[in-house]
Amino acid sequence: MFGKEFEQVEIIDHHLKGTIFYLVSGHGGPDPGAMGKIADNILCEDEYAYDITLRFGRELIRHGAKVYFIVRDPHDGIRNEPYLRSSNDEVCYPNKPTPLNQVQRLKQRVDAINVLFKSEKTSGYKRCIELHVDARSTKENIDLFFYYNPGNKEGERLAMTMRNAIDRKYQQKQPGRGYSGDVSTRSLYMLRNTLPTAVFIELGNINHYRDQQRLIIENNREALARWLCEGVIADHQKTN
Ligand SMILES: [Zn+2]
Repeated sequence: MFGKEFEQVEIIDHHLKGTIFYLVSGHGGPDPGAMGKIADNILCEDEYAYDITLRFGRELIRHGAKVYFIVRDPHDGIRNEPYLRSSNDEVCYPNKPTPLNQVQRLKQRVDAINVLFKSEKTSGYKRCIELHVDARSTKENIDLFFYYNPGNKEGERLAMTMRNAIDRKYQQKQPGRGYSGDVSTRSLYMLRNTLPTAVFIELGNINHYRDQQRLIIENNREALARWLCEGVIADHQKTN
């Protein structure tokens, strides 16, 4: 799944032992999601969300988690190049073709997650996390921001804890930069209908220069995946 170079995954500690994650990268299949542009290169949301989702999941596994990748690309693993070639062959776990219709596509993903969730006997920490990249005008730098389902306390805590982890990281690595990403509620199909508590993350604006640097530079994608994982670990520690 991760591709040749990243295939081997070394378990570095057990902070997430017993936890289960259902990771969804937004769009995919016939739907590339939002599109941005750098010179002649077209950036497709689904490809960047997918690459960061793989890196994030791999990081969770390194800390002992069990991870299901709900959206899967049979050919693309983790990629290091800045401009990720667009493909439309993504499938839904375990190997179902992606429907063209948006409602059917989301329902297919929710069903896959809920079947997996019910099949797991443990009552431990289980979360669904969905990654997207937003599209707005080129003027708007949006940083990363988080949504949870209204009224879901676990979702609120996970979103807040992840947000604060990103904030801490920016303060450490780029003091004075400032980080304005926020947490809010939103009634989204994926947040409402998944049995595990879910959080929806927008990783940036695919049209804004600064947000684009987070996407196209391989090191930044990797760092982001690690920071997201640190946020998850911090949230999980609150349950013990
Ligand atoms: Zn999206």
